[in-house]
Amino acid sequence: MTDNRVVQGRMVTPGKLARIVEGDEILEADGIESADRTCPECGGDVLTVGYMPDVTAYRRGYKCQDCDWATVDDGQ
Ligand SMILES: [Zn+2]
Repeated sequence: MTDNRVVQGRMVTPGKLARIVEGDEILEADGIESADRTCPECGGDVLTVGYMPDVTAYRRGYKCQDCDWATVDDGQ
């Protein structure tokens, strides 16, 4: 199943979106979903993706569809 989404005008896969948010390679990513929040920078729509940066961790990343804003919620 692919659920590519458009981010800043470019089509991204879940893995690609997770790498953008993490800023590094990741192991595995879940599907991209629409987050129930808006971007604090531009008010745009925010996408969320759950991913594993390594075998012992699971994080949820958030990325604005319209600007560079992104953040990671690692449950801390
Ligand atoms: Zn934004």
